[in-house]
Amino acid sequence: MSTILLVSIIGLTIFYFILYHSIFRVMYFGNVGTSIVGEFISCGFAACITLVFGAAAIKFIFGIVGGIIVFLLKAAVVLAIVGGICFVIYCVVNAIKSKANDNYEEMSDINTDQEEFASTNESHTQNDGEKNICTNCGVEYNESAAFCVNCGEKIN
Ligand SMILES: [Zn+2]
Repeated sequence: MSTILLVSIIGLTIFYFILYHSIFRVMYFGNVGTSIVGEFISCGFAACITLVFGAAAIKFIFGIVGGIIVFLLKAAVVLAIVGGICFVIYCVVNAIKSKANDNYEEMSDINTDQEEFASTNESHTQNDGEKNICTNCGVEYNESAAFCVNCGEKIN
């Protein structure tokens, strides 16, 4: 850690020194005669301040980012748990539903059988050639009818 700190201080000092010499001094101060040792010391001082502030800024940003990451991780865990519970409930409900559906289909199968049986019976009676004729008016009526469609006589 201290090696990294030392390397960054030296690197930053050299960077500031070059920056100062190549840009700032040329642009703003001209060719003023200052001692190189003094320049290095001030550049080193600036490097130290930069590192202190930089470290604080990085710590601050990492604190926020870390907080966001921790929050997201917590949210992900909560979502995963809630999603898992929902999935289990969905599976259970689906299983119950499909079982109920099977029962319903079995029942409707029986119903269809009964209907088929009834219709075959009906067609049998129709094929018998016996005609249902109203005793009151003599008009042919449907076997399932309760009253004559012509005169309204009740059919037994
Ligand atoms: Zn009739």
